[in-house]
Amino acid sequence: MKHVLLIMTGGTISMVQNSKTGALQPADSELFRTYVPELFRGEIQVELMSFKPFIDSSDMNPEIWSRLAHLIYDNIEKYDGFVVTHGTDTMAYTASALSFMFENLKKPVIFTGAQLPIGVLRSDARENLVTSVEIAAEQDEEGNAVVPEVCIFFDAKLYRANRTTKKNSEWFSAFKSYNYNPLAIAGVHITYYPQHINYCDLDRPMRLRTKIDQRVVVLYLFPGITQQTVKATLNIPDLQAVVLETYGSGNAPREKWLYEALKEATDKGIIVVNKTQCPVGSVDMGRYETSLNLLEAGVLGGYDITTEALLAKMMYLLGENPDDKEKVKQLLMKSLCGEITIE
Ligand code: ASP
Repeated sequence: MKHVLLIMTGGTISMVQNSKTGALQPADSELFRTYVPELFRGEIQVELMSFKPFIDSSDMNPEIWSRLAHLIYDNIEKYDGFVVTHGTDTMAYTASALSFMFENLKKPVIFTGAQLPIGVLRSDARENLVTSVEIAAEQDEEGNAVVPEVCIFFDAKLYRANRTTKKNSEWFSAFKSYNYNPLAIAGVHITYYPQHINYCDLDRPMRLRTKIDQRVVVLYLFPGITQQTVKATLNIPDLQAVVLETYGSGNAPREKWLYEALKEATDKGIIVVNKTQCPVGSVDMGRYETSLNLLEAGVLGGYDITTEALLAKMMYLLGENPDDKEKVKQLLMKSLCGEITIE
């Protein structure tokens, strides 16, 4: 018999409608047993743990990421896989962060949620939950996990967590992995794509690293952005790293003041990573004249990383290497767990 730990953190999937106000509010931890009782009586033994109180994912933060990571790590030998139910709004951030915190993960950690609460007739919760549990328990003939990665399962698709973005607040297909193929698709059968899955080294132990440095910021460029805005952002006291959201393949205005402000920041030791505002495609600095300035200012290219993964990766690397900015820079340019495509 396979054992799966189902951790409920909150989110729409585990909410009910308040009959007086009409607003969605957190239900109790017995909710899944009430609405999907067969999940707890099937071939897979599912055990429940729940956050108290439930957390709307807008209230998630790095301290809770780390608590969740410890909870999974402390139970890693006891279960074959893990399912985490989580609000969709910041699921891609939490799941990305955990993908970096677990080194050499040997078991599946599947995040899922829903666009409608589980008690609503048309809800997508049941299918997302049941299939996530099945994927978390799936093993090959040798008893190894089929997908030993942190993933998001939503609307029939299994994605690598650190490749996903919430793209839709209306449709059941809430998530998308723009720059990487799904790891599995659930139809009549669940079809896995081993060529896209990252496998751990079974001879090396799993490690957990949960130190986080939150002194990072996102600077989103737009036509008309002022010098004051850029300077105020780059001069935030103690700032350690910046996600610079640029145009197209990593382009920015050629204003002298922008170059100087960025150069001053990188000279001070602030790490600036160029991340394109386009969901599909990669940063390619030097392709256009409008990115040469950035290269010269010491800005690093972020390849095809998502904003969620880049923020989580920066916080994690700065937290784990507080006195070694060069190492942080080197690791930002490497794929640690499949979060970027390096041609
Ligand atoms: N506000 C909810 C949350 O992220 C939305 C959802 O779960 O879909 O927690």
